[in-house]
Amino acid sequence: MEGPGGCSLIEFRMRDWQRLSIFRSYTFPYMDGPNLTVLTSAPVTRLIFEGRRVTGVEFTYEDRVHRIGAGFEVVLSLGAINTPKVLMQSGVGDQAELHRFGIPLVEHLPGVRQNFQDHVALPGMIWECRGDEPNAVFHWFWKSDPSLDTPDLQTTQAPLEMTGLKKVNPTLPASGWMMLPAVIRTKSRGRVRLTGPGSLDPADIESNLLSHPDDLKALVAVVELCREIGNCVALHPFLKQEVVPGNVKGSALENYLRNTAVSWWQSRQLMKISGGCSRSIRSDTPAEAGRFSVSPNAIRNMRASCS
Ligand SMILES: Cc1cc2nc3c(=O)[nH]c(=O)nc-3n(C[C@H](O)[C@H](O)[C@H](O)COP(=O)(O)OP(=O)(O)OC[C@H]3O[C@@H](n4cnc5c(N)ncnc54)[C@H](O)[C@@H]3O)c2cc1C
Repeated sequence: MEGPGGCSLIEFRMRDWQRLSIFRSYTFPYMDGPNLTVLTSAPVTRLIFEGRRVTGVEFTYEDRVHRIGAGFEVVLSLGAINTPKVLMQSGVGDQAELHRFGIPLVEHLPGVRQNFQDHVALPGMIWECRGDEPNAVFHWFWKSDPSLDTPDLQTTQAPLEMTGLKKVNPTLPASGWMMLPAVIRTKSRGRVRLTGPGSLDPADIESNLLSHPDDLKALVAVVELCREIGNCVALHPFLKQEVVPGNVKGSALENYLRNTAVSWWQSRQLMKISGGCSRSIRSDTPAEAGRFSVSPNAIRNMRASCS
């Protein structure tokens, strides 16, 4: 979010009260087009190269290995974990790491496995309501430090009933209100490593959440901000008391956050390429060159998008 911060109702892609997937929303309407073929259960195993030029991809489909050539370029968009995994298994990555698994090197790009980043959240601060649960789902963005350019905090609120938590924890109040505080401009960085050269070898994810002290400071700040809101006089007629985490402060709160904070499912991989920092590797089109950092030796005819 740009600007100092703000608050809004949350928008969802929904039909008949069901959330629509990205595929259903944006790809499905074009399924009949002559220039689109969608294959499911067809995992891409590696990129095919001629020198540093990507000429196609290899994938398995119905128990057979297939290869397709790319007329123009390949867009590798397998998410923040599998994009670097397939890149590395194709020979693009840290030379020593690839050597460990006998993968022939195409380009030494050590940044491919580094800079894994995620949002970090406390999975719920809960207040007991005096009456019925408030029926609103909205979120706000704010800054942990006013000198920041853009908000680094986000909190979503919902009636406790909607979260389903009461079913798994019967000690929670019958009527409750939940705020989910999160840090969205985290400085902690993790990495994605290979465990083997094969497509079935899982990626090893070191998320390193909260490894940067500023992220813990920001998480404490957003928790305190939620408390300021939840305990404010204007909400007294509706909210009785904070029940989770309750009266935890100082170093006890920091320990609590370290033990309970979770990934907020927004992982992405920033790739460092020859000193540049980019979410994508892109090469050919001059118009694109400003948008993505490009190594002088960059891989050609390919974009890699990691969220
Ligand atoms: C529970 C949850 C809730 C979220 N809610 C929100 C939200 O409300 N708002 C928001 O902005 N973001 C939300 N996100 C984050 C958002 O979903 C991701 O940031 C986004 O989907 C990332 O897009 P992507 O295309 O990079 O990767 P993905 O969406 O992960 O797409 C990667 C695709 O590649 C496929 N794939 C992986 N490996 C291979 C392979 N080898 N061969 C072929 N295909 C492969 C995967 O099956 C997947 O379909 C949420 C995430 C989760 C998990």
